[in-house]
Amino acid sequence: MKLNCRLNQLTEAEYWHLLANYCRYTDFNSLGLFRSLLENGKLSLVQRQQLRDAAIAVFPKFYEFLQLKDPTTYLQLSSLGQELTVADERAAWEEIKHAQQRILTRKQLGHRNFGTYSRHNCPYDTCPYNGLMIRQNSRLAEGVLRFHSDRRIGWGHYNHQTARRHQQRKAWAQGREQHDE
Ligand SMILES: [Zn+2]
Repeated sequence: MKLNCRLNQLTEAEYWHLLANYCRYTDFNSLGLFRSLLENGKLSLVQRQQLRDAAIAVFPKFYEFLQLKDPTTYLQLSSLGQELTVADERAAWEEIKHAQQRILTRKQLGHRNFGTYSRHNCPYDTCPYNGLMIRQNSRLAEGVLRFHSDRRIGWGHYNHQTARRHQQRKAWAQGREQHDE
């Protein structure tokens, strides 16, 4: 049996039915379910929160794995209805990084099914994604690029080079000052 509809257009009642009967649908996938809770325009905040909690109860392991697979969706779901300050968001990313590390260590043997992840190594110290494992071509990867372009920094290496050039210029200028004295 197929769902034959987009998850993000389900009503609340249809979600409850789906959570109880997802096994019957051959095209069901839990990632789509979790994402749809954010995208569905028919749900109120309270309904979203209740369905999120119910979905976590049905798929606890997948929800944990979401921190690696799609950390943005995980963060948005886990903070539904909360106003995160910059500090809160930073702390949440830190927790996600620890969780990613735990998941990776545990899954090391099944590593091949994982897809390609790379650790974001940012010269910009305050970048909240620094140290985060990010899957290539994911929505988060695009989000990081946007975040960086807002602040006029590149993916990494470009900025390392500018920093080094800046230091060299400064050292050169300081050296000259010493000679001038
Ligand atoms: Zn960064």
